[in-house]
Amino acid sequence: MANDLKAVQTTLESISSTKPVYAELVETFSPLMSKQAELAEEFGENGPEPPKVDEVRLMEGVHVLAGVKCDDWKEFLLASSRALLPLLKDMAPPEAWPPEADTNLSGKTLARLVEARLSGDLQQFENTFVKLDGMPPSVLFSIVEAVAAPVLASMAGRLGESFSKGCWDQGSCPFCGSLPTIAYLSRRDPKDIENLVGGGGKKHLHCSLCSHNWEYRRDTCPACGNQDQESREIFFVDGMKHERIEACHECGTYCLCIDLRECEPQPQLDVVQLGLVHLDMIAQDKDLEPMTPTTWNSLEP
Ligand SMILES: [Zn+2]
Ligand SMILES: [Zn+2]
Repeated sequence: MANDLKAVQTTLESISSTKPVYAELVETFSPLMSKQAELAEEFGENGPEPPKVDEVRLMEGVHVLAGVKCDDWKEFLLASSRALLPLLKDMAPPEAWPPEADTNLSGKTLARLVEARLSGDLQQFENTFVKLDGMPPSVLFSIVEAVAAPVLASMAGRLGESFSKGCWDQGSCPFCGSLPTIAYLSRRDPKDIENLVGGGGKKHLHCSLCSHNWEYRRDTCPACGNQDQESREIFFVDGMKHERIEACHECGTYCLCIDLRECEPQPQLDVVQLGLVHLDMIAQDKDLEPMTPTTWNSLEP
């Protein structure tokens, strides 16, 4: 699955031309998403070494980055924050980024905040926010996610897409533990010669933070594990069945899903979501919450 800068740019251009209603949204996110992809590529093989994969721990449902210390990543987190903070500031509404807020974050502060994000320690964001003179903790949280993303993506990329195959059955990411922002049904594997007709259609989830993709059961809600078909539902716009909402009424969340067998060229999975905001609106009109809130799907009521 292409996550490189070229795939990001092709997908941005394709949304602007085929769905002009989203051209403005694409323009807003284009500098950030392009820069993140560029950084992930730049770090590549020279980025921080990912921890060794422990298959026994994976089988027990413990993701690779659980409990890691991020000090070794400081240099990369700093490089990422220097490149991305000016872009994030341009995108933020003025009240979210008070002029007095000191966002000159040190490598050490960044490492502590990324650890807090990975372990779900939201108190750490509250504590750091006090030191930052008025930047809302929720904004700081989004900044830390945006800055960490290219560093984590370079590490996940080094492990390769198949590292968790056969030993991970969770709805959260085997590498960083985050929930998905989007699911997809895979294309037919060109190596799968037994299935010359049809094939593909295996469900995968795409991590909201590190961009890793992993296979998942089609009949289960990734957020709560609900398998009851009565309380799970699919919605789509007429004639656009390959772009759909998968809802779970048990936990009240939804995740978008795209059928890649119907997409040419193959979209980049973070960018493609910018062209699906109408589905977020439909789902949220039905009182469903996004499985993973993002800057573009967290709509005003
Ligand atoms: Zn992840
Ligand atoms: Zn659920």
